[in-house]
Amino acid sequence: MIESSGLDPTTTPLSRHSAPQANDPITYDQGVPSVLVIDDDPTIRLLIAAGLQRKGYRVVLAADGRQGLEAFSQHAPDLVLVDVGMPGLDGFDTLRAIRSGQVGYMGQHVPLLMLTGHDDVGSINPAFEAGATDFMTKPINLPLLTERVRYALSGAARERALREAQLEQASACKLARLGFWQMDVRSGALQWSEGAAELLGWPSLPACVAELKALVTPDYRQRLETALSVASQNREGLDLELTLGQGNLERTLRLQSVDQSGAHEHCLVGAFQDVTSLRAFEDKALYLAAHDELTGLPKRHCFLGLLGERLSQAPDARWLVAVLDISRLHRINEALGIRAGDQALVLFSRRLGQCMPSQALLGRLEAGSFGVAIPLSDSAEPRQLCQQWLSSLARTQWIAGEEVYIDFTAGASVFPDDAQDAEALLGAALQAQRLARSQTGHRRLLFKHEIGDRPHIGALSLEAHLQQALHKEEFFLVYQPQQHLATCHISGVEALLRWRHARRGVISPVEFIPLLEETGLIVDVGDWVIRDACRQLAEWNRDGLHLRMSINLSAVQFNQPGFTQRIMTHVNTYRLAPKQLELEITESAAMGHPEQTLKILLELKDLGFSIAIDDFGTGHSSYNYLLRFPIDTLKIDRGFTNSITEDRSSRAIVRSLTTLSQGLGFRTIAEGVESQRQRDYLEALDVDEIQGFWLAKPMPADQLGAFITHAGDKLKPPC
Ligand code: C2E
Ligand code: MG
Ligand code: MG
Repeated sequence: MIESSGLDPTTTPLSRHSAPQANDPITYDQGVPSVLVIDDDPTIRLLIAAGLQRKGYRVVLAADGRQGLEAFSQHAPDLVLVDVGMPGLDGFDTLRAIRSGQVGYMGQHVPLLMLTGHDDVGSINPAFEAGATDFMTKPINLPLLTERVRYALSGAARERALREAQLEQASACKLARLGFWQMDVRSGALQWSEGAAELLGWPSLPACVAELKALVTPDYRQRLETALSVASQNREGLDLELTLGQGNLERTLRLQSVDQSGAHEHCLVGAFQDVTSLRAFEDKALYLAAHDELTGLPKRHCFLGLLGERLSQAPDARWLVAVLDISRLHRINEALGIRAGDQALVLFSRRLGQCMPSQALLGRLEAGSFGVAIPLSDSAEPRQLCQQWLSSLARTQWIAGEEVYIDFTAGASVFPDDAQDAEALLGAALQAQRLARSQTGHRRLLFKHEIGDRPHIGALSLEAHLQQALHKEEFFLVYQPQQHLATCHISGVEALLRWRHARRGVISPVEFIPLLEETGLIVDVGDWVIRDACRQLAEWNRDGLHLRMSINLSAVQFNQPGFTQRIMTHVNTYRLAPKQLELEITESAAMGHPEQTLKILLELKDLGFSIAIDDFGTGHSSYNYLLRFPIDTLKIDRGFTNSITEDRSSRAIVRSLTTLSQGLGFRTIAEGVESQRQRDYLEALDVDEIQGFWLAKPMPADQLGAFITHAGDKLKPPC
């Protein structure tokens, strides 16, 4: 359609197929080329319009330069025919205005044909200078004009296609961060594709090989020199990745050139790609694959790799490798949610980092398990070293608004004594840690050399057998006497569980209690223990033997809903008084959920039971809570008893515990008394009662009467 809107009435709209009339209605197909005719002579306009329309073009007419510019900006024609001599804005100025792009950016590329007078040869050169593509002289030869128009339009179409291809290529290059370079082999001069500096964000580009080398980090410089000389001398392709520039301007470039044979012999031509973000992304992906996202610590395989590297770098050094495992992490997850569990892990890993020496290697091995490797000085004593951080690691933390006690168990091995490579060292530390975990309440840390070479227990098959053990009546109780030091009387016994395994014989609770806890079987087995201990106590009562019966409770069992009702059922069945029973809960189990523990302990206390804190001194109690617990007895861990004769600090601790207990009205029982000397020290330190192999090993119920009768001097007052 030829449009006249906004144009002077002299701009004539023309129909496409009939002879042009000044006001003909106009229709046209979108997509047919359009031609703008700017001429002040209406006859010429009509003539040209008629000729072009007959050939299928869309025509827009304008009567002078100003209208021509307006029509151009409105219709963006594919070609312009413009008369040289016009009143007002003449043909040259109109041409220049269009070419300048001021009426539309297409003006820079559109074909412009100048119409000059027959005798006006002098205007041809200025017309080309003003930007004309071609010219036609008047009078108009219509067939020639339409041919020139067709020719100019096809050329323009080719140019446009080329321009579009170039634009596409340029934007593809920009997206791929790709550019081109060229090197003069003789002078070393470098040329770069347009926009390369902008692409790299550099103020300028190296103009020669020397400048390029100066930008390269020293370790790459040699590689660059070699690659360039091989490529230029042997006419071979080049493919090399370099990091250039510094700070914000640092870029990693991949320089490539193809095989140059057949090309200009003094020139190397190639492409470059800015792979900085790609490599940063890859590095990040690699980092994430090797590091734990939550704590930022190396994951197991990375930790092992780093440890292996360190060991091979200094094969004569000694190393301590430890595995630390947060106890009952799943309980935190269950009670407070996964985020709280995550928080516990982060806090623990942070504290671990803080209390380790700076050369230590840390890693997160799996869920709640961390690896540590520390180089040891010649004089360093591994256990002493560990003791330093053990004490500051386990403690109460505020997580999700609750005070949570984060405890852990650890196993350690020493290089080269226990194993000679990273994997084996970690394996040995893990084995020791598992044993330490199964002995919770005794030792938080075990060393590989302390556990010897016992084969790893087939935990899974043991678990399968455990499922059957209660049903097969394989459990039994043994009793270890406790002696009141002032009177030398046997004041009570502790019931200790044993499992008679069909093939392995009697198995210690240290091995199977953790499995019972993990599988939840502890609830039923623990219930059986209480019932059987009550049955035995009733039997002794009938025989005139009046003893306090201590029963160990697991935290899992203790926190079961309805626990207090269950224990009362057994007490009532055997017509016992709750005060005859002392319920032992370990310090770390009590501190797992202090508020919940407090609630249950108060209930039990109200019912008349006596409460003992077992293995006291091995955990790191929040004294604040302990003082709120309704405690009757503190059982001092046998670790203190062990060292009481040699170690002044153990004596000082036991003394302060007995003073504290006396002040609060607690009874103190020292566990693990193995010698007369230990017993004497404990008496001097005001401990109330003792329990241990010196007095008696745990024994079957039917031996207790005989023991009391025949123990001799040990039970004779005065001691
Ligand atoms: P525990 O409650 O601290 O029990 C004392 C442990 O120390 C017993 O080990 C006992 O045999 C041992 N022992 C006593 N005197 C000495 C001594 O002079 N030297 C040495 N080296 N050891 C001595 P046992 O019977 O192997 O029990 C280990 C742990 O298993 C107990 O520590 C207790 O935490 C747990 N346990 C035992 N029976 C039960 C039970 O019925 N239920 C629950 N939940 N845990 C139990
Ligand atoms: Mg106990
Ligand atoms: Mg104990």
